[in-house]
Amino acid sequence: MARCAYCGERGGFWSRICKDCKKLLARVHELRGQVGYGEFLDELERTGVSKEKIMVFLKADPDGKGSIQDQVTAEMTSELMKVMGLKGSQTPQDVKRIRELTSKDSK
Ligand SMILES: [Zn+2]
Repeated sequence: MARCAYCGERGGFWSRICKDCKKLLARVHELRGQVGYGEFLDELERTGVSKEKIMVFLKADPDGKGSIQDQVTAEMTSELMKVMGLKGSQTPQDVKRIRELTSKDSK
């Protein structure tokens, strides 16, 4: 049986993503660019999936393109920069780098 590409739990026979993560992923696509990060998390919790699982899901990086969390944060930061009249955009890799830098500093 295949394991879910996001949370690592056993998925279905026909899918590399489990039912919960599929639900979360659909919600992420709906919410992207529509809401702020806090509201984004609230909406994901409203799917009924446990918070622990949501966190695992957000941090997973099955395609090597950056985790959902980093992708969404990069989009929100880019939006914000546009609103503030700043040029440029952030990639998920930038966000990851910034997070790694800041977490290193706080130790
Ligand atoms: Zn899953």
